[in-house]
Amino acid sequence: MKAICRLLISLIVIFLLMGCSKGKKINPANENVPNTAEVNNRLGEIEKTRAVEEQNQDSNGVSDDIVDDNKVDQYEGIEYLYKQKINIIDDNYRNYYEIFVYSFYDSDGDGIGDIKGVIEKLDYINDGDPNTDTDLGFNGIWLMPIMPSTTYHKYDVTDYYNIDPQYGTMEDFKNLLQECEKRGIKLIIDLVFNHTSAQHPWFKEAVTYLQGLKEGEQPDLEECPYVGYYHFTKDYEGGSGYHQVKNTKWYYEGVFWDQMPDLNLGNPKVREEIEKIAKYWLDLGVGGFRLDAVKEFYSGQKDKNVEVLQWFTEYVASIDEDAYIVGEAWESKDAIASYYESGITSLFNFPLAMYNGEITKTARRLGPATASTFGKNLMLMLAKYQENNPNFIDAPFISNHDTTRISAQCVNNEEQMKMAAGLLLTQGGSPFVYYGEEIGMNSSGDKDENKRLPMQWSITDQKGMTKKPANADEVEQKFPPVDEQLENPLSLLNYYKRAIRIRNENPEIARGEVSIIEEFSNEDILAIRKVYGDSEIVIIYNIHTEASDLFLEDTDLKDCHIRGYLSVDGSEVTLQDGKLHMPKYSIVILK
Ligand code: CA
Repeated sequence: MKAICRLLISLIVIFLLMGCSKGKKINPANENVPNTAEVNNRLGEIEKTRAVEEQNQDSNGVSDDIVDDNKVDQYEGIEYLYKQKINIIDDNYRNYYEIFVYSFYDSDGDGIGDIKGVIEKLDYINDGDPNTDTDLGFNGIWLMPIMPSTTYHKYDVTDYYNIDPQYGTMEDFKNLLQECEKRGIKLIIDLVFNHTSAQHPWFKEAVTYLQGLKEGEQPDLEECPYVGYYHFTKDYEGGSGYHQVKNTKWYYEGVFWDQMPDLNLGNPKVREEIEKIAKYWLDLGVGGFRLDAVKEFYSGQKDKNVEVLQWFTEYVASIDEDAYIVGEAWESKDAIASYYESGITSLFNFPLAMYNGEITKTARRLGPATASTFGKNLMLMLAKYQENNPNFIDAPFISNHDTTRISAQCVNNEEQMKMAAGLLLTQGGSPFVYYGEEIGMNSSGDKDENKRLPMQWSITDQKGMTKKPANADEVEQKFPPVDEQLENPLSLLNYYKRAIRIRNENPEIARGEVSIIEEFSNEDILAIRKVYGDSEIVIIYNIHTEASDLFLEDTDLKDCHIRGYLSVDGSEVTLQDGKLHMPKYSIVILK
């Protein structure tokens, strides 16, 4: 009996081993297949991280700091080798910084951020001098809505031709445009035309008119054209997204909120209004628009939304062919690919973003995410987008005003946050960084206000600090404010700065056509080639907690040299006698 058992066990073991080697054959490029101990270790790490995450989420979503304080002194004074000349091309491939003006910098002491505050802090974003290293190096800014509105977030516009008084005046805005131009920064603004505010004069007039109709009387659009600006109906049969007009049998569509009535974008008069608005801001000098909520133009009707985007894109191009438009279609890659059929330049790449997006998942090595799967998924994604718009410019990001922040996504693991930032800022297209992301600001839970907290400039100097939005909670910050991080060469802020610098040195990063170098790619390592015109670079990522050595001698990369690198703890990437040494979580640019 024992002998039979032993035989059975042996057979099972042999069968399992065969299964393993079969797996290896399917993946010939995967030379560093981890052994069982490594796999177990990795799984252990993932489980540990999950446990920490769950434990922390119990306590109000505020996580415990797991950053090692001693690390800072140990590496003080490091300097990056390999500095190249800045090589900025004046086109629509840029590095964007998303600003929520309300929470950014307050110039007049009322506790609310304002346009003058943004001007005061422009030198932090980009001082316009390529010889300094004190600024972040962004050459694009996206301002969240700045037009008059009833809310703190200002996504319900009451006047499309003005600046909200909380933020300042049109004069201030013109000054901001001038200051941006001096620095080579393209300024784009949020344009919200899926809906207006219920306090917008168009809607108020329409409501008053409907309320004045006699029982059974039909509205006359000659008398009140604004009734045709929205989706009013008497045939409402239940379901969400519709609200009753007070004291009438009329209903109107307001997908997000009863105070945000949806505009009827099929009405030529509404389109004329929107064209007038777009032209007004383009003539003032804005560089383009971020379009809010494009998938709700006609909720659930993608083809119609694509048509709206096409109309708007073509109109804007007819006014200013260099204008840049980026749309918010919070969708899967397939749906985003469909929206590219409109010819719009950019759509935010949501599948890369957020805690469950490709970037953070890969930086954290969650579940099946590996370096090579990141590469494969990225290639699939880009191919789909390109198929529908050969001139598309990807708009990758990690976080924005609607998502959890990078610190929450990575449970305050600073090395993983840096790895995520490195992945983002070496992507093609125009990456977007949400204000405060560069210092690892915290968000808490699902409440929007907690994702839009005051920029942490300093603990000791309260000048310019804004107050938090009314319903925001007290959220503990896990990482130091700007002034402290500027002083620490190993801070997250200096990592972002360095990554943007490398991007600004190598135009191939944003513009190059991507291919994967299979012979180096495996679970931990991703190697890609980017070809732009007759110039070519190679980017290699080590997405692992251990260092890795790559041997370039008998490969196509044997004549490459290092252009720059990113590492999370100051360790150097080196290339000697054909051996490329990559510390944990490092990225190198070769040419
Ligand atoms: Ca203010």
